[in-house]
Amino acid sequence: MRLVLVGPPGAGKGTQAQFLASHFSIPHISTGDIFRANLKSGTALGLKAKTFMDAGELVPDSVTNEMVADRLTHADAEAGFLLDGFPRNVAQAQVLREILAQKSTPLTAVLELAVDTKEIVLRLSGRRTCRNCGKVWHIEFEKPSTENLCDACSGDLYQREDDKGEVISHRLQVYAEQTEPIIAFYKSEGLLITISATGSVSEITARAISALSN
Ligand code: AMP
Repeated sequence: MRLVLVGPPGAGKGTQAQFLASHFSIPHISTGDIFRANLKSGTALGLKAKTFMDAGELVPDSVTNEMVADRLTHADAEAGFLLDGFPRNVAQAQVLREILAQKSTPLTAVLELAVDTKEIVLRLSGRRTCRNCGKVWHIEFEKPSTENLCDACSGDLYQREDDKGEVISHRLQVYAEQTEPIIAFYKSEGLLITISATGSVSEITARAISALSN
């Protein structure tokens, strides 16, 4: 299974990606997570990405495409993968198509998680992330038992710079202008499957598995 997950920020891509990757036994490749890991360990790539990420802008394609092309050469991606957060514009989608065409391993499907904008703002503004293990919490919908501490590993929770007020609206605008066009692109390629991403996490996972198994 070679899968792309697409949807606005806050659609729950990261959460669903973990369950789907485990269900289909494929690696979860999140470009946002790779950038954050590089940022945390202070690499040149992390430094390059930081200004764009903090502002809710896309990291330039030259940097992102090379990073993804390299990640797809790792042995664990040979039997399939789940891309989360890539591609984020039509140019990236075209590069991905070329990379995969060279290996004669085209995408199996593109799963769109659909959710309305009001709900997204609620989800993102209350989102808190564990600095240690990366687990995602929510100040209302998924509270940890002790405020600002991760139940899974006792790490500190923080609010991502790009989950703050103004940046959220900017990310949504970037999504509408740059990322949404990939939905039409994949529809025309006959790869698009759209499901509603509202309801409980397990309901959405079940919906996704059923849609992908058809
Ligand atoms: P995410 O965790 O997917 O919301 O990504 C966080 C941030 O990383 C985005 O707002 C972008 O700044 C950057 N990023 C992640 N994936 C990409 C991509 N495919 N192209 C450009 N920038 C990206």
